[in-house]
Amino acid sequence: MGHDATDGTLVCDMCGVSLDGDSWLAVAVTRPHATSLGDVGAVFCGQPHAAAWIASPLPDPAPLHAEPRSGRDRAATAGFWAVVAVVATFSLAGVVAVAQWAGLV
Ligand SMILES: [Zn+2]
Repeated sequence: MGHDATDGTLVCDMCGVSLDGDSWLAVAVTRPHATSLGDVGAVFCGQPHAAAWIASPLPDPAPLHAEPRSGRDRAATAGFWAVVAVVATFSLAGVVAVAQWAGLV
């Protein structure tokens, strides 16, 4: 939205004029889309162009990028839960040992 592909400067999504510093206006629209919310947004040189954009049919929301889980992510998740299991096991053993030492068990 609103970025010139050549140099990354902010441009009006309606007329393409370069926008500087604090002379721009951004509009974001959130609406239901499939099973989630879809956002579309644009930046403009002024309110007349923002009004013209919002009055026209809105573009489709950008598709959500659900990144596939990599093997490394799965290994990290498995490692995390393995550490949690070890800590929980030793914690339980500690509680049992203290209870035996105190004569409660
Ligand atoms: Zn404009």
